[in-house]
Amino acid sequence: MNAWQASVIFCALLSGAAVKAQSPKAEDALARDIFKELIQINTTDSVGNVTAAAQAMAARLRQAGFTDADMQLLGPNDNKLNLVVRLRGTGKHKPVLLMGHLDVVEARREDWSMDPFKFVEKDGYFYGRGTQDMKNGDAIMVTSLIRLKQEKFKPSRDIILILTADEEGGKSNGVDWLLKNHRELIDAEFALNHDDFSVVSTGGTPQFYKLQASEKVYADFQLSAENHGGHSSEPEPDNAIYALVNALARLQKHVFAPELNAVTRGYYEKMSRIETGQRAADMRAILNDPPGPAAVARLSEDITDNAILHTTCVPTRLQGGHANNALPQQAVANVNCRILPGHPPESIRQEIIGALADPRITVRFVADNFEVSDTAPERRAYPPPPLNPVMMKPLEKLVSQFWPGMLVVPAQSLGATDGVYLNAVGMPVFVLTGIEIDRDDVRMHGQDERLGVASFYKGNEFFYQYIKAMTAR
Ligand SMILES: [Zn+2]
Repeated sequence: MNAWQASVIFCALLSGAAVKAQSPKAEDALARDIFKELIQINTTDSVGNVTAAAQAMAARLRQAGFTDADMQLLGPNDNKLNLVVRLRGTGKHKPVLLMGHLDVVEARREDWSMDPFKFVEKDGYFYGRGTQDMKNGDAIMVTSLIRLKQEKFKPSRDIILILTADEEGGKSNGVDWLLKNHRELIDAEFALNHDDFSVVSTGGTPQFYKLQASEKVYADFQLSAENHGGHSSEPEPDNAIYALVNALARLQKHVFAPELNAVTRGYYEKMSRIETGQRAADMRAILNDPPGPAAVARLSEDITDNAILHTTCVPTRLQGGHANNALPQQAVANVNCRILPGHPPESIRQEIIGALADPRITVRFVADNFEVSDTAPERRAYPPPPLNPVMMKPLEKLVSQFWPGMLVVPAQSLGATDGVYLNAVGMPVFVLTGIEIDRDDVRMHGQDERLGVASFYKGNEFFYQYIKAMTAR
């Protein structure tokens, strides 16, 4: 098929108004049109509607030839329907799952210099809530599926795409809900999540390709001290606030054991080639078994390396007392932990109790819905398996074509994505995109969120080619 024929087919899929003369390629125009449509559907938890976005994407896919047998709109309520769509393959291999969330973080008009729910192209950027997180990826994944369908491409495995609700908050997380209610629809060998950028650049120059292949696990603990209280004119040695604050000071000194897994080991192997001097030497030293303690200590002075190498726990809220002239009857702190995969939250609770070294302090687990319980879950995230060559080989090949000379660096997320639900049932999740963002221009959840126009189009082409190459055999 020549470019002109392709243009005719793709332009037929577009609503007339969006066909822009300056978009040279039909697949760019299609992706841009879908992107625009998504940005302009408000999908915040407060006043937005995820279902409207899911339905709009279903309509696009239906127009491209997907039948109702290949698509489902499912969810716990009318506002939070998730879209599940399947491009059928030969069945030679287990499916691959592509995942993206449709919801966006709240954005107030007065905080922005423009309407956050209006799609604007200006000075080489697309502006709007969700341009980085992550309606860019939703549009790119939908475009890729449409292109593959139009070409009658037969992948060696089913390609399943889910576009879901409530990743950013809300009570109806789509991935969690689909796993619990329709596991059979989303079962796959591994998942590709588009919920981040992959090409990290500085001052407009790409530095490395970040392949997120593991996540830390989020857990909150409530620390509390109780006392009978009394008149503040006669202080007693046993004081709830002192007890808690002193215990927190001991927690601050506590260091969880450093640990590497398949992904962070790969990360330091690659980064030691990018870094120089002492840092590079330290990165090589921690790869020894056992890791060099001096190198671990030096690296851990960097807050990011510290968080990569250790489980971390930090107090994030503090409250206590009930009157200015009374001894406190209670003092309470929230301690937020980011746990290395492989450790259940209960073992971390036990370690915190040991570090506090004060039986007056009670340590309870706080669930996502803020329910407090005496013990924490035993359920743990699986430590990441070695990187799957089925995913890795075509990735390294394509990255070297799109960004010659650039290294693919496996990475462990310090935060959490929807991948956490899939990791918990043993499905590896990779955050894999062709999106490039400058370190200084990360605007997810922030004001005047934007994405470079060139980055979007390059990412669009990259993802399509990657999916095609990865599922070709
Ligand atoms: Zn996101």
